[in-house]
Amino acid sequence: MEHQLITYSAEETMNLGQKFVALAKPGSTFCLTGDLGAGKTTLVRGIARALNIKNVVQSPTFNIMKVYFDGDRPLIHIDAYRLADVNTDIGLDEYIGYETGITVIEWPEFIKDLIPENAIEVNIRHAEGDTRNITIKSDDKDFMEGLK
Ligand code: ADP
Ligand code: MG
Repeated sequence: MEHQLITYSAEETMNLGQKFVALAKPGSTFCLTGDLGAGKTTLVRGIARALNIKNVVQSPTFNIMKVYFDGDRPLIHIDAYRLADVNTDIGLDEYIGYETGITVIEWPEFIKDLIPENAIEVNIRHAEGDTRNITIKSDDKDFMEGLK
């Protein structure tokens, strides 16, 4: 199933993250694709805000992974950009889909082998100005219905 929507500001994209939290089952994984500056990390910030995480979520490009335990549920934020062309066997699979948490992966194309089959795919595309076209794909009927 596929759902398309448009956001017109960073705040609107963050609100989409809030919706994701409301609809996400425990252990859900979200894969975020889109060019640099599309709004992937902004969406993660919205997810973090909805989880009442106080730490500021920055793009973890230099850290590969950050795990936030100070919110309502754990948030696992992975940015796989730096894992292009390197051995990705560094234990990330232990965290992806972790317990009651929400896992969000930027640049999932670089760790394809580690992506759960039921991951929710989110693609963000730049349009003019602050406009972003967002496509969400998932087999989870309840999740997709909830987005509407
Ligand atoms: P990425 O992680 O995809 O590289 P970021 O989330 O770090 O992108 O950066 C996106 C930038 O675009 C931020 O500065 C954000 O404020 C801005 N922005 C403007 N409009 C939007 C929008 N509709 N959705 C998301 N971000 C937006
Ligand atoms: Mg980012």
